[in-house]
Amino acid sequence: MRKPIIVGNWKMNKTIAEAVEFIKAVDPVCHDGATYGVGTSFLALNEANKLAKNLIVAAENCHFEDSGAFTGEVSVPMLEEIGVKYCIIGHSERREMFGDTDETVNKKAKRLIKAGITPIVCIGETEAQYDAGESEKVIRDQLSGSLADLCADCVKNIVIAYEPIWAIGTGKSASVEIAQNCCHIVRDQVEKMYGKEAADAVRVQYGGSVKPENIVEYMAQPDIDGALIGGASLKVESFTDIINKTK
Ligand code: 13P
Repeated sequence: MRKPIIVGNWKMNKTIAEAVEFIKAVDPVCHDGATYGVGTSFLALNEANKLAKNLIVAAENCHFEDSGAFTGEVSVPMLEEIGVKYCIIGHSERREMFGDTDETVNKKAKRLIKAGITPIVCIGETEAQYDAGESEKVIRDQLSGSLADLCADCVKNIVIAYEPIWAIGTGKSASVEIAQNCCHIVRDQVEKMYGKEAADAVRVQYGGSVKPENIVEYMAQPDIDGALIGGASLKVESFTDIINKTK
């Protein structure tokens, strides 16, 4: 049985004080129905991680090298030092604006796994690729690159977030059928690469305009084990609503 995992991705939102206020309000509401978490800025990470008892706290990026001349970057040992256990990598915003590629995502995944930090590996097609009927090919190609040369046992513990770019921050969420179908393709690709045991164990999230009104129908799909949530994770009320609806 895969334990559902629902993570808010705050992106470049919330100061330390705002993160603390949110966690104080939401941490007590979490329950065993799923793993709940938030991705915070690097600055808020330490404070948030110390405070959260039930929520898991995720970094939103990392560098694959341990140290060196990489101005502005944060390494995996730095995350390890403050006890962070999850890290989002390869988000489409990072791929589009900051040059992340399947190759760098793969290096980051390997380094995180070595440190015992769970990567949340993001993939998903653009609107043009969707319109051209290329979603399946894009999903399979991104996974082939991003998850290359990992051990099958390691893959069992990672999280993969399928986030169609056309559904991110647009309010235009993917239909339940599209989301299920694409999350199924994700699992099938993991099976092709690492076998059935890994595919049965890996947790696959859907992301893109998830909110309290649609979370239940996504979570009811056989291949959707959770969600990666942007906008609706920023307000205590809506994230609490999502937590309460996934008991
Ligand atoms: P929205 O939920 O705001 O569409 O963002 C999704 C996302 O990018 C989560 O990583």
